[in-house]
Amino acid sequence: MKTEQLKTLFYDEVAKCNHCGFCLAHCPVYTVTGREWATPRGKNVLVKAIIEGKIDWTPEIEETLFRCTGCKLCTQTCFPAVETNQAVLAGRECLVDRKQYPKVVDRVVEALETHFNISNEPNANRTLWMEKLEDIPDHRFQKEKARVIYFVGCVAAFYPMAHKIPQTFVQILHKADVDFTILGGEEWCCGFPLIQAGMKEKMQKLVEHNQEKVKEIGAETVVFACPSCFHTWKEKYQTNAELLHSTQFIERLIGEGKITFQNGADRAVTYHDPCDLGRNSKVFDAPRNILKRIPGLNLVELEGNRQLSVCCGGGGDLEMIDPALSAAIAQRKIEEIQRTGAGEVVTSCQQCIRTISGYARKHKIKLKVRDITEVVLEAMGSPL
Ligand code: SF4
Ligand code: SF4
Repeated sequence: MKTEQLKTLFYDEVAKCNHCGFCLAHCPVYTVTGREWATPRGKNVLVKAIIEGKIDWTPEIEETLFRCTGCKLCTQTCFPAVETNQAVLAGRECLVDRKQYPKVVDRVVEALETHFNISNEPNANRTLWMEKLEDIPDHRFQKEKARVIYFVGCVAAFYPMAHKIPQTFVQILHKADVDFTILGGEEWCCGFPLIQAGMKEKMQKLVEHNQEKVKEIGAETVVFACPSCFHTWKEKYQTNAELLHSTQFIERLIGEGKITFQNGADRAVTYHDPCDLGRNSKVFDAPRNILKRIPGLNLVELEGNRQLSVCCGGGGDLEMIDPALSAAIAQRKIEEIQRTGAGEVVTSCQQCIRTISGYARKHKIKLKVRDITEVVLEAMGSPL
């Protein structure tokens, strides 16, 4: 994007910011850094000044605009509802046009162009998580035709800390007798990291490939355990298939009597709303409805829940661009979780799992961090 386009598309938006500062206490980047440039207000002021030609695209602007998790809590808590994150993403596109962006992004772009995944491994490795499963069907959950596609996502496929999500979700679907398939090596990254990097024009090849796979398989529904894949498909893909998050699909299966819960130890758990599932996709009730159905489980809400949920630190490519800042945000998230008194936090996002449990492990904090699919499978009885 050119600065002139930024002016046409975003000047009115950033000009809506009246500098009141109500958003400050909510922005996870500001609450950790305590710096004015990090605030939504600061970002809006800088973008406006660039558009007005008062300042130039300095390295400091790059640093500012690439430090935003995309959580959109600022917009939620802002009276004029300024879309700061949209202006930030547009600003990133301008910076990319000027070849002025964190060079770590190039590694991901190269991985996506070569292997169609973010980890730069051969794409066939997308199913390595399956090796831990015993007694799986001969088709290994890869069929030519199926009514449902489970789109696993790069993080769950390639990062061992998130492998439990596909390992448990395929077992849930299998036990519930769902006619489903995964795409295996034919699943390509959804394109989310490119949007966050300000390079959304590079995602078209990925989008077209994945859309084509849905047609070939004849799927009526595509299910995602990753909120960012889910949100990206809902916003950027064109398909006749129904798009559902795993929590929505599990809730449906419970309603149809295909999932029943046999057991559950008496315990308190809290639930973290992932930004891309809750605030950004408006899925708040499905995970809570599931947790409330599990015997023995007592749901204790976080201070920041539903629309006011605070990011774990893993959004907006922040972990890749500034891991220390991402970890500092995760620390505050863990402190908020600990204040509930629950020793277990459940979420429904592979990136939240990585960010929160990564910090907890590194700092030897005793905290159970689990995806909702794990909790569901456990309550259904023994695995496959
Ligand atoms: S972004 Fe909204 S809440 Fe924040 S300073 Fe501007 S007007 Fe106020
Ligand atoms: S989207 Fe989140 S991280 Fe970015 S400015 Fe708004 S509140 Fe801060």
